[in-house]
Amino acid sequence: MKSTSSFDLPTIEGSTRYIKAAALVSLVACFACGRASSAKPPTPSITPVAASSGLPVLPTSGLSKPSGAPGGLRVLDWAGLKSAVTYTFDDGSQASYYPQLHATGVRVTFFINLNAGNVSTWTRAAQDGNELGNHTAHHCRADGTSCAGTYAGSLEAEYDLCTDYIKSTYGVSNVWTTASPYGDTGWDNVAKTRFFLNRGVWPGQIAPNDSTDPYNLLIYGVPDGSTASTINAQIDAARRAGKWQIFLMHMLDDSGVKASEVVASIYHAKSSGDIWIDSMVNVGGYWAGQKALALATSTQSGTDTIVTWKLPANFPRGKYVRVTVTGGTLKQGGQVLQWNGAGYYEVALDPGTLTISPN
Ligand SMILES: [Zn+2]
Repeated sequence: MKSTSSFDLPTIEGSTRYIKAAALVSLVACFACGRASSAKPPTPSITPVAASSGLPVLPTSGLSKPSGAPGGLRVLDWAGLKSAVTYTFDDGSQASYYPQLHATGVRVTFFINLNAGNVSTWTRAAQDGNELGNHTAHHCRADGTSCAGTYAGSLEAEYDLCTDYIKSTYGVSNVWTTASPYGDTGWDNVAKTRFFLNRGVWPGQIAPNDSTDPYNLLIYGVPDGSTASTINAQIDAARRAGKWQIFLMHMLDDSGVKASEVVASIYHAKSSGDIWIDSMVNVGGYWAGQKALALATSTQSGTDTIVTWKLPANFPRGKYVRVTVTGGTLKQGGQVLQWNGAGYYEVALDPGTLTISPN
């Protein structure tokens, strides 16, 4: 088993600063290179999202509705964009930098524990559409050791205490994703009983319909002391490959990755115009929804084709995917779906079924 402790250490009040060999090396390297921050002036606009689905607005429009043979159902990768990026921040130490992150207009994920505090900031972050994810109550290893505080007695209790804390303290309706403390895969089997995604700490990028373990999602752990260029290189690689890059970071001050560098990387991603930057629950909901449709079954009912799928356990409600077809009329619940000139129909995942009728 790979040791992951260097990625992910608990933040206990008053002892948020930690030193580790890799971070020190990268920090020194950064000071040696002496390059200035490449942050662009922020444009205080919120990334537009479609009102109904919450998916990003696509840059193109004017495409004609497909008029060929009914069928040919295909889910667009990354909601019709080229690739995806998710910023995840662990241990709840970033509250004072929230305004800078928020000014970028993108939604991110904060994985927090019971010591997150900062009620007004995290409540507002959740109201702004960011995700507050479960990082367990006391940030223990899966054997109940190395806790920040006292182990709750079981992994189940550790998860549930954290979810209850997030819901009751910050007023969110539910918690859909988790990130294992220390990336310890011993959490994974219990994570499956409560969440539809669990972020790991193993490096990698995720492709549409690939076999990545949803309970050990791959990441890029941004080394402490990195500048935006390090993050940008991963963003660009994911864009070239059409993949999803999840970033993992901790402190956003001089001891970690400076907030200004993170913000600069967000503007770099935004400048492409074709990268979906969103929280883990939102991008991951799309990724998992697309996989569910890839496994859908089709049956005939007269001239209609009925497509039926099954969503993963603990999947959030209200998620959509974007699809195209060769032709036909798409319906859900008896309602005809409207074609969007950017090249898609939006399909609600909750019903678990879609009807394709001849034109
Ligand atoms: Zn952590």
